[in-house]
Amino acid sequence: MEFDTKCVLCSRLTEDGGHLFFKCKHVRKIWESMQLEDQRRVLEGCCSSEEVTQQIMQMKEEIQMKAIVLLWHWWNERNRVREGDKRREAHDLVYVIEKNAVEFLRLGSSSGAGNLTRLTNALQAEVRACLNGAKAAAKQGVGRVIMEKDSMVLAQAMKDNSYRLATAGGDILELKNFLNENFISCNVAFVPRSCNKVAHALAALGRMCPPEIDLAWNGSSSVVEELVASDNAESIS
Ligand SMILES: [Zn+2]
Repeated sequence: MEFDTKCVLCSRLTEDGGHLFFKCKHVRKIWESMQLEDQRRVLEGCCSSEEVTQQIMQMKEEIQMKAIVLLWHWWNERNRVREGDKRREAHDLVYVIEKNAVEFLRLGSSSGAGNLTRLTNALQAEVRACLNGAKAAAKQGVGRVIMEKDSMVLAQAMKDNSYRLATAGGDILELKNFLNENFISCNVAFVPRSCNKVAHALAALGRMCPPEIDLAWNGSSSVVEELVASDNAESIS
């Protein structure tokens, strides 16, 4: 039996890990655009995947995260192309990789430290918050929902299966099933945090209040009015 070992991205040479991740002309463009050419050269010279891992673990946190996310996206890209999808342009992938890397670092630090264990917990926290919101909406009899998340990672995880093997994969599946079973339609959209300033300010306000306090207002509260007014003023300018 003969196996086709041609690189699915450039149709040349024998595809192995070294070629796919570091030497293929298409992936080189990505390393270069992300100013990671020095790191690519070091990794290209490694003799085994263990050595690649060791080199990556020695990188500074920010660079390390970019490299890891790049490798992960490139593997997904290779699989997409192998299944018949069109290869995306380097600048489109670079945009997604840079965004994801920043977000992973933010998720890691907001949950206490920049390591991967805590990072998946933060993603899980996002997923569970989303599930609770969905349950509340279903209880109210809402049929069509649009979920706006400031987490690009979660928005993406809801659209494809790229997170099925992640620690949060089970929670994500539970959320997807709940949305499918309880709503006529559901869209999950990525919206930058700045677009939901009022909601975040209100959530922060609620978190500061003792649990027994009644958070309902008669009429609109001056706090809310000020928040909305400042948000409107910003969107005009
Ligand atoms: Zn190639």
